[in-house]
Amino acid sequence: MSYAIEFAGPVTLPVAESNQAFPVGRIYCVGRNYAEHAREMGHDPDREPPFFFMKPADAIVHNGTTIPYPQMTKDLHHEIEMVVAIGKGGSDIPVEKALQHVFGYGVGLDMTRRDLQGEAKKMGRPWEMGKAFDNSAPCTALKTVAMVGHPEKGAIWLRINGEVRQKGDLAEMIWNVPETISYLSKLITLRAGDLIMSGTPAGVGPVKPGDRLEGHVDGVGELTVTYRK
Ligand code: MN
Repeated sequence: MSYAIEFAGPVTLPVAESNQAFPVGRIYCVGRNYAEHAREMGHDPDREPPFFFMKPADAIVHNGTTIPYPQMTKDLHHEIEMVVAIGKGGSDIPVEKALQHVFGYGVGLDMTRRDLQGEAKKMGRPWEMGKAFDNSAPCTALKTVAMVGHPEKGAIWLRINGEVRQKGDLAEMIWNVPETISYLSKLITLRAGDLIMSGTPAGVGPVKPGDRLEGHVDGVGELTVTYRK
């Protein structure tokens, strides 16, 4: 069988220290999963059930890339996040078994056109144009569970042009990784290849053309992307 149209093939992420690629399916993002970030966005960080939005797989940008500044925004924001890669699908996954579904972890950015997202919130409209645009999901190579285990604590930070803007600890997540996987798998059937962006710590803010973003999660990796001037 051949494709009826020109098709670039599946989106993939490299697997660290290997020549294998991880095929990316859907990208689910957890909203307001660190209390300080929930507060800075004007919300009460009480333990409400987690909520999710999505990005398309082709929003992925590989580590080290220079990308164009996105269209139609005057307020592009950075959100540094740990990315969880699902290696085995399932639905109604119990919390105690959730980590068995993880292939590995990466460092990602949930880039956000905050002005468009804010307008959507105000109008009661969907968030996609604020969250799910071209190049909105930079992500490192994935490290397997064999390499990094299941990170539960450790620094997560973002620098712009060398200056620290976001800083937190994985232990501050309101819903930890197994709880997030379990909850999401009750809403949809998770598939091998899905990614979960696990939420961002406080300190989100604007990115300008020409900025160099460096993200870090202890043990998981370092992500660098640069915006064209
Ligand atoms: Mn986010």
